[in-house]
Amino acid sequence: MRIVLVGPPGAGKGTQAQFIASHLSIPKISTGDIFRANVSGGTELGRQAKAYMDRGDLVPDEVTIAMVRDRLGEDDAQDGFLLDGFPRNVPQAETLKKMLAEWDLRLDIVLELVVDEDEVVRRLSGRRTCDKCGRIWHVDFDDKQDDICDDCGGHLFQRDDDKEEVVRHRLEVYAEQTSPLVQFYADEGILVGIDATGPVEEVTNRALAALR
Ligand code: ADP
Ligand code: ADP
Ligand code: ADP
Repeated sequence: MRIVLVGPPGAGKGTQAQFIASHLSIPKISTGDIFRANVSGGTELGRQAKAYMDRGDLVPDEVTIAMVRDRLGEDDAQDGFLLDGFPRNVPQAETLKKMLAEWDLRLDIVLELVVDEDEVVRRLSGRRTCDKCGRIWHVDFDDKQDDICDDCGGHLFQRDDDKEEVVRHRLEVYAEQTSPLVQFYADEGILVGIDATGPVEEVTNRALAALR
């Protein structure tokens, strides 16, 4: 299956992507994760992306699209993939459509995670990420008393762009640039919205039911 996840920052895309992708045995391709790995690895791509990410702006389309094209060309993505965080605007969505059409392919489904803004802010302000395995945690919802990953023993950190100022800007960027994708994919007839509130497992079950 070829799947895209959309929803505002903090909706739970990364959290759900890890479960859905492993359930369906397809790779999870998270553009935010790839950018962050390149920033911390000090690569040329990371150097190009960093200033935009720090401000909460989108990295330019040429840079992002070239990266996604390379990733989709890898062997593990040939029979399906789950995109998390891409596309982020209508031009990216149009390019993805053309890219897939060149390979005689199309997306099967776009899953929209629906949550209100108060919940998103609550989720982002407590988000922590493991520096070793990448697992996403929440200080309150996962009742984290320390900053150690229960899965692998790595250290949990707060993303720089989860600071309040930057969060506010990322939400504006979502409203202006990313939310039009919902209509774009509704017009394509492949959009399915699910309620993304409630426990993580319940949301995963709703997502898997929508994908059947
Ligand atoms: P979140 O999970 O909170 O929505 P991401 O991890 O997806 O955030 O993205 C973090 C940052 O990486 C974004 O604010 C943006 O700067 C950059 N980024 C990620 N995906 C894209 C994309 N498709 N286009 C442009 N920039 C992107
Ligand atoms: P490269 O530029 O590294 O040769 P491309 O992205 O041009 O790789 O892909 C080469 C061929 O592999 C394409 O013509 C297409 O048939 C196939 N291909 C690439 N990505 C995918 C994908 N995600 N799913 C299915 N087929 C793909
Ligand atoms: P996104 O990738 O959409 O930005 P994340 O998956 O990183 O969102 O989730 C943001 C924060 O919310 C994380 O701290 C995560 O642990 C938490 N979270 C995700 N799903 C839920 C849920 N169903 N209930 C409570 N917290 C959640």
